[in-house]
Amino acid sequence: MRVRFAPSPTGHLHVGNARTALFNWLLARGHGGTLILRIEDTDVERSTQESEAAILRDLRWLGLNWDEGPDVGGARGPYRQSERLNLYASYAQELLAAGHAYYCFCSIAQLDTERQSALAEGRPARYAGTCRRLSREQADARIASGERPAIRFRVPEDRDVVFEDVVRGDVRFQTDVIGDPVIVRADGHPAYNFAVVVDDALMEVTHVVRGEDHISNTPRQVLLYEALGFTPPFFAHLALVMGPDHSPLSKRHGATSVAEFRAKGYLPEALVNYLALIGWSPRGAGAAGPSDDNTELLPIDELARRFSLERVGHSAGVFDEEKLAWVNRHYLKIADPIRIATLAVPFFAAAGVRLSPDARGLEFLASAMSMATSSVDRLDQVPARLALLFEYAPETTLGDGQVRREMREDGPRAVVRALAEALATAPRLDRERFRAVAGEVKARTGQKGKALFHPIRVALTGRAEGPELDLAIPAIDGGADLPAGAGIPRIVGCRERAAAFVRALETC
Ligand code: GLU
Repeated sequence: MRVRFAPSPTGHLHVGNARTALFNWLLARGHGGTLILRIEDTDVERSTQESEAAILRDLRWLGLNWDEGPDVGGARGPYRQSERLNLYASYAQELLAAGHAYYCFCSIAQLDTERQSALAEGRPARYAGTCRRLSREQADARIASGERPAIRFRVPEDRDVVFEDVVRGDVRFQTDVIGDPVIVRADGHPAYNFAVVVDDALMEVTHVVRGEDHISNTPRQVLLYEALGFTPPFFAHLALVMGPDHSPLSKRHGATSVAEFRAKGYLPEALVNYLALIGWSPRGAGAAGPSDDNTELLPIDELARRFSLERVGHSAGVFDEEKLAWVNRHYLKIADPIRIATLAVPFFAAAGVRLSPDARGLEFLASAMSMATSSVDRLDQVPARLALLFEYAPETTLGDGQVRREMREDGPRAVVRALAEALATAPRLDRERFRAVAGEVKARTGQKGKALFHPIRVALTGRAEGPELDLAIPAIDGGADLPAGAGIPRIVGCRERAAAFVRALETC
């Protein structure tokens, strides 16, 4: 089995295309096949090297590696269409010689006028066939006089084209509705339908798995395979990924590119797992729709083991960011905390907290990470959950009228004073020592439950709400004695916090 992913480097990698890449990857890896990456850059005006580099980076980030491609080479290269122009030219000559193609001298303006009048008269806007009847001699004479023709494929008249689509079953087209397509433009560049056939044939692709937006191209391609004497591959057209309003997922629905989802703090394994569930399910035959069921949360290799094209649904899948967030939460919780801490660093920078952790700094961040990963959907929400480590200002906390009124009551005031006294001589707190200190404050003040822990929370975290104290307190004190070289901003410890809070409370 040889499959390919063939992006055009004209923009970002859309999640719909990433899903096409993933399905090809799953198919290849599940069957011991070969995955080819081919860059379709014949649209010279819109293709850029930056876009190609970004697509490769995003595919790698997702973990979708390929066996043959522009960067890794392979026996059927080159893998950029712009480097294969001589191949297209020679196959176009072959088609011309066999009468399957002809030169077309129609100008863009002429074609446009024809199209407009066809539309005005309610006829299909297909090529009228003006140059179809030119003899080769007539064409050669016009070329000799300096005209630059395009080359068109001569679509056989009055034929049914049928191909079997692995996802959609038999697909049938009448050739009468297909105008003769341009296969090589006047500037010498091949058109998509032609280049793709030459490439898929020469690269010995066995299964073409791509978006359904290409299904109307496939009959032209099948006819080209025939004319060139190549055997067509199996085709599988995947339903497009839709937005919540059931129109193709686009900018107006929000994020659409892999890069945007990465920037929002989704993990690659979560995006991959979620994309696999759009239109397919690892659960058993027939269950194609996504559901919030843990049996769908599987690593990519296991997805590949279970994947089959026959079980891909043919109805469109809706991209559901809520479900993606649910999948992401799962992977955030099970991921190695050191990795999550490393990945979180740029998100802190974006939130205005500059971290350049060394090994100790990273170890510390990782230990604090469970305080965030138990309650966030994405990495971009981590800095806010951990802000209590780096920001501590009791005057600001008590600047809030309601907090100030609450904390000035006798009960909370006594708790905070007892806390400061207990901490004055205590070592840095881990979970057990924190519990012992809380017990001591309880014994000295007679406060318990919320009346005990709420003032402790406000005094030590500077906030009325937040993560469990059992996690937050050891994190604060774990960071308090980090050396400056650890690359973590200074963290004020619990002892200093309690003392500062008492002072602020006395004067507010
Ligand atoms: N370059 C085409 C695209 O990005 C590929 C279509 C195909 O897979 O044949 O849509």
